[in-house]
Amino acid sequence: MSVTDTRDWVCGIDVLDMRLDSEHQLLFNPAGRGGVVVVNEPGHRIFRLFHRPTSMRDVWVSCPEPGHDLQDVVTRLSQLDVIHPIGHPPEPAFPSGKVLTAWLHVTNACNLRCPYCYVNKSAEGMDESVGRAAVEAVIQSAVAHGFPAVKLKYAGGEASLNHRLMMSLTPTRGHSQPAPDWICKRSC
Ligand code: SF4
Repeated sequence: MSVTDTRDWVCGIDVLDMRLDSEHQLLFNPAGRGGVVVVNEPGHRIFRLFHRPTSMRDVWVSCPEPGHDLQDVVTRLSQLDVIHPIGHPPEPAFPSGKVLTAWLHVTNACNLRCPYCYVNKSAEGMDESVGRAAVEAVIQSAVAHGFPAVKLKYAGGEASLNHRLMMSLTPTRGHSQPAPDWICKRSC
């Protein structure tokens, strides 16, 4: 995007705009193909100009000190899909994968006390019928969409506190569905 661009641009409707501290904001468009960007106050002021459709020329006029920084910020915001030409929102692009990964939250219980923990712990655990139904659904989805492998990640809580379920869900060739290859992992 350059100053000669005549299109109107606008910020994405899903853009996350989060204050980090008194001088910095985080911007991220989950519907875009870019990543997270942190902007300072001048950068954030430029971003806010796109809360309504605006052209590069208008931005240039509105900015008290237009220059290379302005050009750089606007270019970066457009590359990250934080702003887009009006009527042309970004379309999420997903890398093609060979493994369908599913997380199974097999228990809410945990015997650790990590300071960063966000899990609402309880003695509750997934029962076997739910676990089997979930695995069958994952297999069906993998087969339907041509994934040659499935990765099951056991999560919690501390997943091994429900190790009986983990063991019973460990797939065998006797599964009712034509199973792809398996990768099983335990994760917090
Ligand atoms: S659930 Fe995970 S993060 Fe929370 S205390 Fe247990 S091990 Fe730590």
